[in-house]
Amino acid sequence: MYYVFFVGTAGSGKTTMVKEFQDYLLDQEMDASIVNMDPAVESLPYVPDFDVRDYIDSRDVMQRFGLGPNSSLIVSIDLLLTKATEIKSDLGNIESNYVLVDTPGQIELFAYRDSGRTFSSLLVGDNKSVNVFLMDSFLAKESRSYVSLLLLSSSVRFRLGTPQVNVLSKTDLLSKEELERVTSWGEGENLLDSLGTIDDYSFELVRTLMESLEVPPLPVSSQTRQGFDELYALIQRILAGGEDFE
Ligand code: GDP
Ligand code: MG
Repeated sequence: MYYVFFVGTAGSGKTTMVKEFQDYLLDQEMDASIVNMDPAVESLPYVPDFDVRDYIDSRDVMQRFGLGPNSSLIVSIDLLLTKATEIKSDLGNIESNYVLVDTPGQIELFAYRDSGRTFSSLLVGDNKSVNVFLMDSFLAKESRSYVSLLLLSSSVRFRLGTPQVNVLSKTDLLSKEELERVTSWGEGENLLDSLGTIDDYSFELVRTLMESLEVPPLPVSSQTRQGFDELYALIQRILAGGEDFE
């Protein structure tokens, strides 16, 4: 069993991609289940096989503890862990080869808070996992945002220590010229030119960041399924690569 976590800033396309990637796998007669880890999502385009909202209700938490929306999310995930035994047993019902995990809009809930990480470990158990980090094209088409998103991706990867794949999401929203430009940045070309005048600190940061990129961010679209074959191949290579990432 392999776990694929879809991670990224709010609105980067995680939920849509989880749905489309499941359909993509099913079309090829591979079974894939979905876990919804977002306690605050109102409606989902897919039917989750496991849904954190069945265990906690962030709106109820808000009222019960008199919290605002952000703190109620944090408390929700904490409360989730008090139901670990029940959750563990329910997770046992998932039997598919791939489990696609839709993570919360607040990236810190998943990556930086202990409770988010503990819950992820509970999910994954002894199985292998990979993170797909979505860089929203709408933001990434601007060079400073592109670098900032890569830094965020590195930060998540560093924190979790799990193999990670960067994708440039929603590429159908980019013009041909924009897509070409962003793709060339990923190949280490033209990025410094596009950034214009930057201070020495930023220059060194960008240089180190680009050197550490193993694979350029993969252009994908959940609308056209552009890049899905390549993404699947990349995930396969990482998961079945025989390397032990634990
Ligand atoms: P999440 O917050 O990361 O889960 O993002 P969602 O999946 O909810 O997507 C946010 C918005 O972007 C929604 O309006 C989606 O319809 C839209 N969206 C997601 N993926 C794509 C894509 O590949 N192409 C286009 N054009 N829109 C997308
Ligand atoms: Mg979502």
